[in-house]
Amino acid sequence: MPSTAIKRVEIQAQNRLRTLMRDYFLNLDAAAKDPDRQVAWCTSVGPCEILTAFGFEVFFPENHGALLGARKVSPEYIPRAIGIGYGSESCSYMNSDIGAALAGESPLQEIYGIDGPPTPDVLAYSTNQCREVQDWFSFFGKRNDAAVFGICPPSHLGEVGDHHVDFVRGLLARFIKQIESRFDKRLDWAALEEIVALSSRASTLWKVILDTAIAKPSPITFWDGLIHMSPVILMRGSQAAVEYYEQLLTEMRKRIDKSVGAVPDEQWRLYWEGMPVWPKIRELSEKFFDLRTVIAASTYCNSWAFEPYDGGDPLAWMAKTSIEIFINRDERFKQEFLLDMFNRFSIDGAIFHNARTCPNNTNSRFGMAQRLRDELDLPVLVIDGDLCDGRFFSTAQTMTNIEAFIEQLEDRRS
Ligand code: SF4
Repeated sequence: MPSTAIKRVEIQAQNRLRTLMRDYFLNLDAAAKDPDRQVAWCTSVGPCEILTAFGFEVFFPENHGALLGARKVSPEYIPRAIGIGYGSESCSYMNSDIGAALAGESPLQEIYGIDGPPTPDVLAYSTNQCREVQDWFSFFGKRNDAAVFGICPPSHLGEVGDHHVDFVRGLLARFIKQIESRFDKRLDWAALEEIVALSSRASTLWKVILDTAIAKPSPITFWDGLIHMSPVILMRGSQAAVEYYEQLLTEMRKRIDKSVGAVPDEQWRLYWEGMPVWPKIRELSEKFFDLRTVIAASTYCNSWAFEPYDGGDPLAWMAKTSIEIFINRDERFKQEFLLDMFNRFSIDGAIFHNARTCPNNTNSRFGMAQRLRDELDLPVLVIDGDLCDGRFFSTAQTMTNIEAFIEQLEDRRS
């Protein structure tokens, strides 16, 4: 069995990340309490650049859902959402978030000393990821007597054509008019272009950082990515996010130059497909660390790695990037994307997370894991679990399955 004597090398940029996160949440809290400022809630690949250009401070409830999962408090709140009619197998981000609001509690109170998620003036979602966000945001719109606007683009796309982009661009243009009319504001198009350029820059840097894991040993893991992806989601469109990723990229490049691996004595390189198991991040990362296994790439962390914006129509860029995301694509595109990732990152095996309450971001239900296993002769492990709801995850069984999977890799190599 591997020894646990190897030491993890901490990522230095993490100190700056803590400050950035603190500033972000304190600013949101201040904005919510200031009658002259306004707060918008937005989905993770929703039209946040437009909201920022209008002067809203933007909050992302999915991040709060993940936080509730990571702090292991979702089980306290999910039953409250179920109690008012939400399904026990509905999105556990949504159920956790709604339940926490009903309880009047949030980890943000303890971490940052603020009241909790900021009260929204407007909520904007895109169903490019799932329909669940429509219901989730509608709940909070009603609760706060706030406007709710939705972008509903075409979904499950193979090729993304100009007609798709034009259609979604039209939805974004309508959204701008809705905001202008509701809040008596006018969009500053120059500001939007600048924000889109910053958003694209941060996203491009994030992709380059994730791609540093192509190196052997890999300087960064999926587990690191789950922490360091926060700015590309929460602070998209800001200079602070760009500067943060420049710093992180410099650190990763230094690691490559010195052959510093995120997992010392790296033996195995795996791919993580699907949602994280937020309440078990620590246990899982330690298990893989002890097994000298780096999770070198994931679909999840790549969800915010967009194509660069090279000037021109900012709405067209927003439309295109919002429908090109992996979760919004068809089975064939997804399989080709995964094949490419497995090759680029020299993957020895793949783990598919069958997240019970997120069928939208689970890709083991229609034979893909089996097809990839057969086509590539690549070992694949499917684990049952969930993003937040512990009822669906067995730690003992999963750890045993992971150990057996690594033994299988060892057998193949020998
Ligand atoms: S994609 Fe999945 S986890 Fe995210 S909001 Fe939709 S159902 Fe929930």
